[in-house]
Parts: sequence; structure tokens; C-alpha cells
Amino acid sequence: MNMMHKHIQIFDTTLRDGEQTPGVSLTADDKLVVARQLDKLGVDIIEAGFPISSKGEKKSVRRIADAGLHAKICGLARVTKQDIDACLDCNVDIVHTFIPTSDIQMQYTIEKSREEVLQLAIGAVEYIKEHGVECLFSAMDATRTDVDYLLRVYQDVEKAGADTINVPDTVGIMFPSAMKELIKKIYDTVKIPIDVHCHNDFGLAVANSLAAVEAGTRQVQVTVNSLGERAGNADLAETVMSLHSIYKVRTNIQTKHLVETSRLVERLSGIRVPPNMPIVGDNAFSHESGIHTHGILIRTDTFEPGVMTPEMVGHRRRIVVGKHAGKHAVKQMLTDAGLKPTDGQLAEIMQRIKDLGDKGKRVTDADLYTIAEVIMGEVAKGEQAIVLEEVSVMTGNKVTPTASIKAVVRGKPKIGAQTGVGPVDAALRAVQTILGKDAKIKLRDFRIEAITGGSDALAEVIIGVEDEKGNIVTARSAREDIVMASVEALVSAINRLMLRKR
Ligand code: MN
Repeated sequence: MNMMHKHIQIFDTTLRDGEQTPGVSLTADDKLVVARQLDKLGVDIIEAGFPISSKGEKKSVRRIADAGLHAKICGLARVTKQDIDACLDCNVDIVHTFIPTSDIQMQYTIEKSREEVLQLAIGAVEYIKEHGVECLFSAMDATRTDVDYLLRVYQDVEKAGADTINVPDTVGIMFPSAMKELIKKIYDTVKIPIDVHCHNDFGLAVANSLAAVEAGTRQVQVTVNSLGERAGNADLAETVMSLHSIYKVRTNIQTKHLVETSRLVERLSGIRVPPNMPIVGDNAFSHESGIHTHGILIRTDTFEPGVMTPEMVGHRRRIVVGKHAGKHAVKQMLTDAGLKPTDGQLAEIMQRIKDLGDKGKRVTDADLYTIAEVIMGEVAKGEQAIVLEEVSVMTGNKVTPTASIKAVVRGKPKIGAQTGVGPVDAALRAVQTILGKDAKIKLRDFRIEAITGGSDALAEVIIGVEDEKGNIVTARSAREDIVMASVEALVSAINRLMLRKR
């Protein structure tokens, strides 16, 4: 580990490789929003795009380069003058030029010999350096390239003036010990900083990047939420937190912004983050089993890494009620919601949760409150924040979907109407209207599941809402009518949140 640098540079390619994720297309405005967030997060370099690919892309890269961000802005270019000129037109700080060096890609994709590729690479680097900008050179498919030839390419581009060389594991076939070997050889051959770009085809992108760091790599390329071609790139949060918490190596990342960055990219890209995603996933700091929750309530590092806490990454710890839930955790959750069950009531509540779990039902925190209310006789209907009275919805191909809702909100009758993109959207907006600024809630999750088949299928709607403090509550409702089920689930979720606030 003696080659390891104490400080690693983070090169983010969410806006370039990440944007090449199948099904993802970001608008120029979205890209600027993401770039600003990455800058706030503290990434050293933002690869803003591939300017030659379209007029819109070029404009977008230029806008990011001109946005006055702290991070250096990088544009991608093949080894041609047109590609490099397109980058230069965008005022980027760094031009990232690449050419394949593996026999398979040279022969079948660009139909060039090793010697031709070498000359093109040298020419591109010299051309970039003549224009006084930084040059990052990538030997595409480096990990499948003949090693002697690869070393020769890197030596020659170093001589031509390249500032940094990148070692891309383009098809994600490396494994950590081999990566370490390869980087060592390069480290012994060239003096300029080494950068790596790893793909996740075997789930090894982060491990390979870390192995490269152990062998002397100065910079790593990552994406938010592991976006990128195919199975994606090395994940930003996983790489950075491993470096900080396990390797004790520093980066410039302000880790407390990791979760908000992940959520922003999730929303704009439309690619959902799985709940079990490390660090940023909903379950990353959630505990359900009785043994674990009991331990966590005594000391959080009994069942968490300890060297990484939810606070460090901008996350929160959650105790989830399920059939594995222990008495301690359930009591804690009820106390947090202002409910104080007696020991007898608690035992009864525990029994109900376990019965539901044994029937295969997922017990949400909303279910827990309902069970507790019933058993403790706590909340009468009059105490609920919202009592729904009437819902009517108009929709069709010639009308704007409109919903009106009549309800009693904290004892006062209220009527609200809203339009939406569809009947469910209109109804949910109408509910939010009658609440006014009273409840700043955000819809975090909305799912519809058909329970039975046929056109009269019973649909179950699961809704998750979040208040301004980040409290998340889920509620569900099942009906034949999905609009009604949606409204009921939303109202029920809001009532839970209000109950919690009390
Ligand atoms: Mn890539």
C-alpha cells in the first residue's frame, strides 16, 4: 500500500457516461442542476458531456463550463480535430481524448493498426496542448490491451504532453489483484498522474477502483448512483466512503451531501435507487430484526459499521417494524409518535404485528400506528387531522382531469379543487390544496398493485409521504377504484404524519 496517495481526486462522469445509461436523457437545464450539485458536493472534475455528439450537447457543456463552478470542467473528444475543437469551443478546462488500444476494438471498430493508433493519439494530445488546456488521455479498453503496447502508448502520450492518463476498464472484466498489477506496471513506467474508469459488469467497479488506488492511482472516475453504460460505473458514494472510512484516504467530497445528490439524480434520471443500495439506499441505515434493533438502541455501532454513520452521508437511521421487530424498537417508535402503551398493551401490539407478519403481510410504520391506536383506543376519528367527506373526479380525452375534495381539516370544513395530468394526480393535488401551507409534504413513493385479476380488480395503492423534517410515513388502501384508493392512502399517510408530530 506504500504507493497509495493520501488524497484522491474525484472525477465525476455522471453527465457523460452516466447520461449514456440506457433510457436516460437529461435536458440541458437538468444537467446544469446536476453540475451545480456535484460542485456543492466537492467533486474535483465534472465531465460535462461529449460536445461533438450534438448541437444541444455542445451548448449544454458550454453552459456548465461558463457557470463559474469551482470544479474543473471536462469535455470528451475522439482523437480528431473536429471533436477537440468542439470541446475547445465550450471553454472546458480539460479535454478528455480517447482511442481504442485493444486489438479487438482497433480491428473491428476503427479498423486501424497499432502504429496508426499510436500516431493518432500523439497527434491529438499535441493538438490539445497547443491550445493551452489540460489533456486527459484514455486508452479505451486498456484492460484488454496488450500490456507492452499499452505501456508504449502511455509513454508516448506522456512525451507528447498529456497531463493525466486514464486506464479504462471499458467492459468491466478486471478483478482487484489484476488491476493492482496493471496499475503498478503503469506507475513504474510513466510519471504523470494515473486515473481509472471502471465498469460494473461483474459488480467489481468499486473494488477495482480501490485496488487501483492501492497501486498508486491519483484519480478515480465515478458516477452518482452508479449510472453508466450497461451495468454502470463505479459508484461515487461507495468509492468515496470506502476511501474515507476504510482506507483513511481523503478526498474533497463533502460527504454530508451524498444522499441529497443521489436523490436529485434519481429524480432527474428516472432510474430508481434500489432500497439496499449501499450508503444512499433507503435501507442503508434501517434495522428490522429484534436482535439488531435492540443493539442499535443501546449503541449504534453494534450493528452498523461505526466508521460510517448516517449523519456523515446525510442519511437517517430508521427502525422498521416487521415481524422481526423487537419490543424495544416498537416501544421506541410509539414513544417517538407520542404514544405511551402500558406493558400489557405493548405485548398485545407485538402479537398483532407478528400475526400480520406470519400471514406474509408487510407491516409498515403506518400499520403499527393503526394497530396501536386500536389497541390503546387513543385516536378517535375527531382527533384525526383530516376526515374525508366527498371526492369527485372528472376525466376523459376531451377534458382536463379535475378533482374536487370535501374534507374536515382540524375540525374546519374545507373544499379544494385542482387539475392534474391524470385523475390520480388531480386528486392528490386537491388534497394538498385543502391542507394549505399547514403541511409541507412531499410524495416520496406511489405504487399501485393489482391484487386480483380482471377489470374489477382490487387495486392496492401504497403511498409514502415525507414531511419537512424528513419523517417518512407510508400508508395503503385497497379498492376497485384507484382514484379513491389513492386519495384514501394519501389522507391516511398525512394523518399518520400529523399524529407523529404531536
Ligand atoms: Mn465508460
